[in-house]
Amino acid sequence: MNNRERIDRLAAGELLPKEELTALLAGYTEEERLYAADRARSMTDRIFGRRVYFRGIVELSSYCKNNCYYCGIRRGNRQAGRYRLSEEEILGCCDRGYQLGYRTFVLQGGEDPWFDDGRIVSLVRRIRERFPDCAITLSLGEKERGSYQRYYDAGADRYLLRHETANPEHYARLHPPEMSWQRRMQCLKDLRGIGYQTGCGCMVGSPYQTAEHLAEDLLFTRAFRPQMVGIGPFLPHKDTPFCREKPGTLRDTLMMLSLTRLMNPSVLLPATTALGTLTPGGREQGILAGANVIMPNISPPQVRGSYLLYDNKIGVGDDEVSSRDRVVQAVRAIGYEIVVGRGDYQEEKIHD
Ligand code: SAH
Repeated sequence: MNNRERIDRLAAGELLPKEELTALLAGYTEEERLYAADRARSMTDRIFGRRVYFRGIVELSSYCKNNCYYCGIRRGNRQAGRYRLSEEEILGCCDRGYQLGYRTFVLQGGEDPWFDDGRIVSLVRRIRERFPDCAITLSLGEKERGSYQRYYDAGADRYLLRHETANPEHYARLHPPEMSWQRRMQCLKDLRGIGYQTGCGCMVGSPYQTAEHLAEDLLFTRAFRPQMVGIGPFLPHKDTPFCREKPGTLRDTLMMLSLTRLMNPSVLLPATTALGTLTPGGREQGILAGANVIMPNISPPQVRGSYLLYDNKIGVGDDEVSSRDRVVQAVRAIGYEIVVGRGDYQEEKIHD
């Protein structure tokens, strides 16, 4: 089977075995990548129209009890600036975000024990009360099922928890021994079981990753049937064990976005900040390769320099207005419109 045929089959809804996906990812030309992007983009246009969903992201804490080898806010990084936002500050971010048109708030952070279940529940309740027409997405890492359930009952709608890599041995090379792939997978199952719109996802080009691992990520994602998939390039951070590792490539990240779209037609797929950091215009290229969500930062400007998962993160000197305006302009420039609305997952919604 040649690469065009592989792409055509995926676009027709056929599943390819791991060997075929691995062969595709291990050796495709720029022409073939553009072909995949084209097929993915027309599929996205057919289902969603030329529209991009906006979510405002609040980075609520840079404290983390974990020590992931790739991440700049890992516990072991003594250089990292640490902060946590108060409930009032977070509500203030949502107020300003609401005025700017956001109807989904994504609360992301390191795994900060200060944000215990009681505090998270109180926060979610208050956002739910104040913004009844908005979706609340959490991205706060691994928790017990009971905790996820409490946040859900308090009004959270969605949860993002990237699986990072679908291969357990690869997972063990990216994380310290106290972290477990099995546990991460269990968390994802719990989230889905509770009823969250759930997002998994992975980094592209993380150290030790092979084409076969990427094929496994595609197959896992497809089998898990998530509502959202977060995919971005790995980028090194200077104060981590992976400081000397090479970043993921633009072409592989775009290819993974396109293949994820082809294999999961109605999934919500962000063009990530990491992709915009890897290269100017990266997020726009992501949209043109099949992504349909952008998550501009609505964190307070004074803390942005302390939420650095990787080097050279874009938007650190911006506020919520400039972060949004920049992206609105870029998205319009490639012929897309921004959607004001919750932008919930819908199975096969055909846009006319
Ligand atoms: N603590 C939360 C949120 C993590 S930050 C959790 O565990 O889910 C969100 C994502 O950023 C991570 O899942 C990871 O895939 C990505 N990330 C972390 N460090 C990165 C790096 N150096 N380069 C690219 N992406 C990174």
